[in-house]
Amino acid sequence: MAKTDTYEMPPHGWTCFFCGDTFTTVGAAQDHFGGDLMSAAACQIKAGEEMGLLMALRKAEAELARYRVEDSDADRRYYAMQAEHAAALQRAEEDGYARGLRDAICVGFDA
Ligand SMILES: [Zn+2]
Repeated sequence: MAKTDTYEMPPHGWTCFFCGDTFTTVGAAQDHFGGDLMSAAACQIKAGEEMGLLMALRKAEAELARYRVEDSDADRRYYAMQAEHAAALQRAEEDGYARGLRDAICVGFDA
């Protein structure tokens, strides 16, 4: 979530409209309220006691949000592979250049 989408934490924290619980850290509040305005509060999701399920939901929501801005794990792997490929190409080019230079020097000394 972009920093401009939120406001600073009030001194008392954030209190849930539904259950009245108060959250004094961004992470705890985000886990309870979700990552965006369309998210259901954790207390409204009947699996509230199933923290593992809730965390999986929040993780999926975060992954979906990253897909929307083309920053998914798959995108990151793709860009990392592109960077590795470019670096390997550059190394191969430099090796070839060095070999060519070495050969030219050898030819130069022999002639
Ligand atoms: Zn609540």
